[in-house]
Amino acid sequence: MNYRGRFAPSPTGLLHAGSLVAAVGSWLCARHANGRWLVRMEDIDPPREVPGSAAAILSALPGFGMTADEPAIYQSSRIAAYDAAFEQLREAELVFPCWCSRSDLAATGGIHRDGHCIAPPDLHRAPAWRIRVPDECIAFFDELQGSQQQRLREVVGDFVIRRVEGFYSYQLACVVDDAWQGITQVVRGSDLLDSTPRQIWLQRCLGLPTPGYLHLPLVLDSDGRKLSKSERSQEIDPSNPMHALRRALSFLGIAPDETAVYPLELLEVALRQFDPHQLTQCSDHRVA
Ligand code: GLU
Repeated sequence: MNYRGRFAPSPTGLLHAGSLVAAVGSWLCARHANGRWLVRMEDIDPPREVPGSAAAILSALPGFGMTADEPAIYQSSRIAAYDAAFEQLREAELVFPCWCSRSDLAATGGIHRDGHCIAPPDLHRAPAWRIRVPDECIAFFDELQGSQQQRLREVVGDFVIRRVEGFYSYQLACVVDDAWQGITQVVRGSDLLDSTPRQIWLQRCLGLPTPGYLHLPLVLDSDGRKLSKSERSQEIDPSNPMHALRRALSFLGIAPDETAVYPLELLEVALRQFDPHQLTQCSDHRVA
């Protein structure tokens, strides 16, 4: 099967050190496999969206030497596909409407395990929609982090796939689009490692294929916290791409070429020595 990889940023700020590592890591894996590298803008969470950041992220990527092989897709234009997936789950009676509040779920640590809503239906208020999860271990092999497993019911419970406001969850949209775009390997930060069993469960419910997974080490700030796009201090300066790219490559365990002048040149030199199985950093690393 021809390799198809992707970089799937959310427009919650400008590109930052952590998302650049995900972009570079997924680009290197796709190019190493002589595959295609796609970009998907995950803009389905309007309350968290920072205006202008989708365009800023997309326009910054070529400046870092990375050009997608197909036009970028926007999840905001894919709602009909998520509606169809939701209907498929509803017809199969795998989802249920839920009016539970935080306090309804306080006794179980916020985890919903009943398979049906435990609060009385409130016809004046839109429900969230949850998918029932089985009491079984979902296991998968991560190309970098090794064998993984999660007891979905215990750890996550019946999870929300459509929020009260009507927005579809990241989990549902991601699964529908990874399949639609024919993604064969998902390369992303290990902050999403624990989302993968939920995504595999959704793939099974929807009859979609499960791609391969490779979760890169997480980029932490100097205080050991996960870098989030909302932390402006970690935004990278698109006018000085070589510095940011060298840092991203070092983080991935690739000694960056010091003589390269252009971003693509730097990435191509890195590609020659790149082996995804030598990305051996299994623990989280900090950005100096
Ligand atoms: N949109 C997610 C993020 O920016 C990444 C999703 C993914 O790669 O599956 O954190």
